[in-house]
Amino acid sequence: MTSAVSEEPAKKRILVIEDEPDIVRGLRDALEFEGFEVQARGTGTEGLTAAMEWGPDAVLLDLMLPDDNGYRVCETLRQRDETVPIIILTAKAQETDKIRGLDAGADDYVTKPFSVAELIARINAIFRRQARMAHSDETFTIGGWQINARKHMMSRGRTSKRLTFYELEVLKLLRYKSE
Ligand code: CA
Repeated sequence: MTSAVSEEPAKKRILVIEDEPDIVRGLRDALEFEGFEVQARGTGTEGLTAAMEWGPDAVLLDLMLPDDNGYRVCETLRQRDETVPIIILTAKAQETDKIRGLDAGADDYVTKPFSVAELIARINAIFRRQARMAHSDETFTIGGWQINARKHMMSRGRTSKRLTFYELEVLKLLRYKSE
């Protein structure tokens, strides 16, 4: 856990599961330029194997793969690894597809044709959120209140209040949602 906050963090690994060569090439170039380590696979089966063997920090997953549908790949991936961020790349803009993807365990999605800059911003946002959850869960500020999660206290100026477990959980949720 502490390695993620060291001064010289290891390169984050991104696995791209996508069968369209042009998209793979574009993603690889942009992600490597951003300092990520990239591997790409063109089928769901190969993608799942790579996810297990290589241990990526995030997965970009196309929904329309030649051998399997991306939802199933997403579900399988999620069963095997509860925490790896999965971002779905979808040509389908319909709301139901997005919801289905999120139901299958994805963290986020982008609709093709997508902006690579936006995709990278989303990946970085996920990594920042993960880092905060892992390392600075103890105190945070919300609505001007200072929350100390370890002590179950919220304070503002001279006022302080003890928080129940559920109050604290709600505040944590609000905190992550407000990003
Ligand atoms: Ca495809």
